[in-house]
Amino acid sequence: MAKYVFVTGGVVSGLGKGITASSLALLLKSRGYKVFMQKFDPYINVDPGTMSPFQHGEVYVTADGSETDLDLGHYERFIDEELNYTSNITTGKVYSSVLEKERRGDYLGATVQIVPHITNEIKNKVYEAGITSNADIVITEIGGTIGDIESQSFIEALRQIRNEKGKENTFFVHATLVPFIYGSDELKTKPTQHSVIELRGMGIQPDMIVTRSPIVLDDNLKKKIALYCSIPKENIIDSVDVKNIYQIPINYYEQGADEIILKQFGMKVPKANLKEWEKLIDVTDHLEKEIEIALVGKYVELHDAYLSVAESLRHAGYKYHTKVNINWIDSEDLEKDADLSKIFKNTKGIIVPGGFGERGIEGMIKAITYARENNIPYLGICLGMQLAVIEFARHVCGINEANSTEFNSVCPEPIIDLMSDQKNIINMGGTLRLGNYDCKIKKGTLAYDDYKKENIKERHRHRYEFNNKYKDILEKHGMVFSGINEASNLVEIVELPKHKHFIGCQFHPEFKSRPTKCHPLFDSFIKNSLK
Ligand code: GLN
Repeated sequence: MAKYVFVTGGVVSGLGKGITASSLALLLKSRGYKVFMQKFDPYINVDPGTMSPFQHGEVYVTADGSETDLDLGHYERFIDEELNYTSNITTGKVYSSVLEKERRGDYLGATVQIVPHITNEIKNKVYEAGITSNADIVITEIGGTIGDIESQSFIEALRQIRNEKGKENTFFVHATLVPFIYGSDELKTKPTQHSVIELRGMGIQPDMIVTRSPIVLDDNLKKKIALYCSIPKENIIDSVDVKNIYQIPINYYEQGADEIILKQFGMKVPKANLKEWEKLIDVTDHLEKEIEIALVGKYVELHDAYLSVAESLRHAGYKYHTKVNINWIDSEDLEKDADLSKIFKNTKGIIVPGGFGERGIEGMIKAITYARENNIPYLGICLGMQLAVIEFARHVCGINEANSTEFNSVCPEPIIDLMSDQKNIINMGGTLRLGNYDCKIKKGTLAYDDYKKENIKERHRHRYEFNNKYKDILEKHGMVFSGINEASNLVEIVELPKHKHFIGCQFHPEFKSRPTKCHPLFDSFIKNSLK
């Protein structure tokens, strides 16, 4: 049977609970245990797939095609394990499933209530993650902040799980903020005390408190928290602000955080193997070069909207001991009379990531023209591939009206068009082409150089595709279709061989990049941008 670690947060949101959960998971894995991760999001959407990136940041897609919270990206990057549909549970998911059961008559005779029906459903989702993953330890992060109305039923379910499984099978981590007050120049523990009081009011006594603070807590402060919050002083783990998030697991390790958890579970504490991770920190702490990459999109005000893309660029940078500085460019700014040579003056590579809707599209196309004409390395992801094809059709093949039916449903030259199996879809949620699909790579292409194999699988999230009617004419003008999904004859990768580096992919390679193992497409993009 799996053991369960729950990570809650107090005082404020944005404390880095996701990183806390991921760091603990990494440490437990480094000791040889099989770890699985899960996130509860207390909002009513069934998944974040229908939310604007401005609301929620990026939607992270798992291999099985679940559209999930961006914290799952942290989880996968830290523990390098594939997560799935059991890994992101929302209030919407819980209620849909309870209501479906109610209509089916599963609760016949009963009044369906939050306790026990909703809480049972939540508990089942926790246990399901444990059973299907076959993990030794499941770490579940609860989104939001203690005291939120939305998360109460989740917290109540956790209280019941502790009651059912006992202290030897469950562990509560509470992450809080210890602010520094300027003037009196001291750290303050009161918000942590109050947050723990609130948590206790809901029946949960934390086993560990992780304190986020700008400086390390001294012994007296830890004693104070220990006294007021009834936990051993050693179980207070410093999470001091760091420049590099990959440092955090090492900081927790030095304080014995994972050991404390294993001891409560009565599990052995084998030696941790953190060699690879320590090597990563050594690299990231000593980057020798810098490079500017322009990321052109319409959600750039919120960097979290492109979190995995930004991380993937950084990972590839690590391989070349290079700090990647991202120049965030709002594509709409390029639509006015922008001087692109000025904007891209120091840019060594241009990336257009995924996106939806018409706004800002012409600005992205301008950036692609600039990259193509000035031999600047280009990587187009999903929308960025579709626009690269439109740009090429318009400006190289002379198909002036080339467009996507996403932006103009009656466009006369639909180079990008709705996939045929999307035409009758009415529901917007969960109906994109999602998750892993095969791609066959043509030998002798840039893509083959990158992957060094013919058959790959990548994660997808799109509704539109390249219209094969235009393949011949684009090929005649020099575009190479280097990756195809054979089952549906769908274009997955395009490239321009005469260019220094010009490639677009219909899938999202950013979901598979890991800090210790960068993705081949980001690898070659950074490598060629450095040349
Ligand atoms: N909007 C495009 C589509 O649905 C691209 C999607 C994306 O970039 N993720 O096909």
